[in-house]
Amino acid sequence: MTVPWERLPVGSAGWVDLPLGVEAFVCRGTRGGPSAVVAAGIHGDEYEGPAAAARLASTVTPEAVRGSVVLIPVANPMAWHAGLRVTPEDGRNLARTFPGDPHGTLTERLAASLFAWISQADYLIDLHSGGVKYRFAPLAGFYGDPVAGNPSYQAARRFGLPWLWQLPETPGVLSCELHRRGRTAIGCEYLGDGQLAPEGVTAYVRGVVSCLAAWGMLPDGQPLPPGGVAVRGDWVLAGAAGLFAAEVDLGAAVRDGQRLGTISSEKGQEGETLVAARAGTVLARRSKAYIRKADWDVLVASNA
Ligand SMILES: [Zn+2]
Repeated sequence: MTVPWERLPVGSAGWVDLPLGVEAFVCRGTRGGPSAVVAAGIHGDEYEGPAAAARLASTVTPEAVRGSVVLIPVANPMAWHAGLRVTPEDGRNLARTFPGDPHGTLTERLAASLFAWISQADYLIDLHSGGVKYRFAPLAGFYGDPVAGNPSYQAARRFGLPWLWQLPETPGVLSCELHRRGRTAIGCEYLGDGQLAPEGVTAYVRGVVSCLAAWGMLPDGQPLPPGGVAVRGDWVLAGAAGLFAAEVDLGAAVRDGQRLGTISSEKGQEGETLVAARAGTVLARRSKAYIRKADWDVLVASNA
C-alpha cells in the first residue's frame, strides 16, 4: 500500500481521502526526512485535538518541513458524526481496536486501514481529551520509564503540558501498539466534558510544533524547554452503579485513604465511598453523574 505522504509530490501539501471517510492533511517537505502522524478524533466526542490538527493544517508548509507531517483531525468519522466515543454501528472503541482486522467489524476495518500506514511512520502524537464523560488535567502521556534515553518520555517533556503520565500499556491503543513496534509515540489529554477549551487547542498546536522541532522536522523551529512532572497511576473503577459525586478537583493533592467521592443509588443510599489507594494528584475524574459498575471514576497518580 502507498502511505499517504507518498501520494503527494515532494514539496507539496493538501488533503487526501482515505478509506471509511477519513481525511488527512499531508505536508510533504521540500527536504527529505522522517514521517510524523498527528492523530485526533479517535474518540468522536473529543474536540481540542481535531481543532488543533485543523489549525496546524492551515499553518504548516512544505518549505518549513523536513520529512512528512500527516494530520488527521477526525480518525473515526462515524463516531464523530454521532458525537460519541465509540462507533455507533458496532459499539466498538477505536482506541482499543488497533491493529484491527481488515475482515472484521466496521471499527476493526477502520483500525486496520489506519494502522497499515500509521505503523510505518517514525513518530505519532495521539491527541485526546476526556470526551463527554471525563475531564483530564492537561497531560502528555509516554511509554516506558522516565529516563533520559527514552524517546517517548523526551517527546512528552517537549510537549509543554504540566503533567507527564507514564501510560499503562493497554493493548489496542494506537500509541501503545506503535510503541510496541519501536516507534516514538505519545498520547495527550486536555480537559473534556464535551467542551472545546480554546487554551487546549493553542496548547496542542504549540506542543506538536515543539515536538516536530525537537525531532528536526521543523529545522527553523525552536522546541519548548523540557518540562512537566512525571506521574504514574491508573483509574479506580466504580464498584457500584448510581450517581457519582466527586469530592476532589483536577490537580488536587490527596492523601492515602482520602475520600475521593461517593456513588449513591437511585433511592439515595450510599452505594460506595471512593478512597485514594495512595497519596498523589488527581489527574482525571468522571464528570457525568450517572456511573455504572466498573466505569472509571477517579485517576490518582503519584510521582513516577
Ligand atoms: Zn480519547
